[in-house]
Amino acid sequence: MSERSEPHYGRLGGFTSERSQRRLLDDLRAKGIKNEGVLEALAHVPRHQFVEEALQSRAYEDTALPIGYQQTISQPYVVALMTQLLLTGRDRLRRVLEIGTGSGFQTAVLSRVSARVFSIERIGALAERAHQQLESLGIQNVSLRHGDGANGWTAKGPFDGIILTAAPDRVPEVLFSQLSDQGVLVAPEGNSRQQRLLYWIKQDGIAIRHQSIDVVFVPLKSGQA
Ligand code: SAH
Repeated sequence: MSERSEPHYGRLGGFTSERSQRRLLDDLRAKGIKNEGVLEALAHVPRHQFVEEALQSRAYEDTALPIGYQQTISQPYVVALMTQLLLTGRDRLRRVLEIGTGSGFQTAVLSRVSARVFSIERIGALAERAHQQLESLGIQNVSLRHGDGANGWTAKGPFDGIILTAAPDRVPEVLFSQLSDQGVLVAPEGNSRQQRLLYWIKQDGIAIRHQSIDVVFVPLKSGQA
């Protein structure tokens, strides 16, 4: 998506998505999202286009929504918070790896704060739909792959940001080796009962772990579907 492109607002039933999107951004500010680059990115990605028609009127509520295949599009606050954490200490990123493309919404947000985005999705039908959606929005700096993201994407690394949008019990060790120095890895960790959003900042080859909020994500699964 070029810097000049305007948001894709549309009419949804009786109200404009523009107004409900602005309300959502105010809500995110109130909840503590301070990074203007992140807020700008969320203002330019039309979330209603990443959910099915029947759910579009709810797209600007701060809530996760189903996207089929027992998966969900993440809550906007969590997308904003994870993106803000990923940017820790930096205005922009060069190369980001996302594991769990899902609807492609978080991917589209990342495409506005990173020069290149690489994203892996294990469910083929979701990967295909996300590909079409990102293409229809004219987003060109994203590469998608259908596969198991637990091993990362060695050929495209190292990355200055890695983000997991599905929760492993423990973040696979191999992902840290694909993180560049000063890079940040953001991931939910835990089981179906309890998960915590964590982030690691790599310095001199060592990744230092920090804790954020409690979250609920779908589990990171192995293999493809
Ligand atoms: N950020 C996405 C969240 C989608 S839910 C959005 O906002 O739409 C998490 C996604 O991770 C699901 O689509 C799920 O299929 C995918 N996933 C789970 N385990 C995976 C793995 N090992 N590799 C790649 N994708 C995985």
